[in-house]
Amino acid sequence: MTRLILLGPPGSGKGTQAQKLAELYQIPHISTGDLLRSAVEKKTKLGEQARGYMDRGELVPDEIILDMVRDRLAEPDAKAGWVLDGFPRNVSQAEFLDKLLQEISQESDRSINLEVPDDTVVSRMLERGRTDDNEETIRRRLEVYRQQTAPTIAYYSDRDRLLSVDGDRDIDEVTAALKSAIIS
Ligand code: AMP
Repeated sequence: MTRLILLGPPGSGKGTQAQKLAELYQIPHISTGDLLRSAVEKKTKLGEQARGYMDRGELVPDEIILDMVRDRLAEPDAKAGWVLDGFPRNVSQAEFLDKLLQEISQESDRSINLEVPDDTVVSRMLERGRTDDNEETIRRRLEVYRQQTAPTIAYYSDRDRLLSVDGDRDIDEVTAALKSAIIS
């Protein structure tokens, strides 16, 4: 059973790597950013609520995100395992996830932090060209990452549940390093 939580700054390659690991282990790739973008596109109520925060590079409020994650993890395909990308984004989301997984008997053992320097993440995001990838929003997303998301790294390392992988390499090298971290 493979249940993975990928951590790392925006632009660290989490999405790309999560996709590869999902294919490799035949498990769903659950990206809260993708779920939100699809809700925005479909103009659902949730999408309408989330859009402004996403455009500004702010975190979407927990009350929206937590229900969305609870529903997604309850879907049948999640029984086979999963790779989470973009969640948890703050310590309260990490606490929520621990409680939820206990409730639904889906313990995850370790989280993997993709380590990538600031210069690399900024240039990767500028290359991606997503609508929320303009310079101002990128700057804000990095600030939000440092203030709210980086503490989740300590959350997992304090509990001896953190692995780190150097993400500043070719895509395939990073995937190989992730694979060996997962089986270690
Ligand atoms: P991402 O695709 O992970 O870079 O996410 C894009 C945007 O969606 C973020 O800048 C946030 O506005 C929002 N978002 C994604 N995941 C979360 C989350 N776990 N908590 C709050 N906001 C999120």
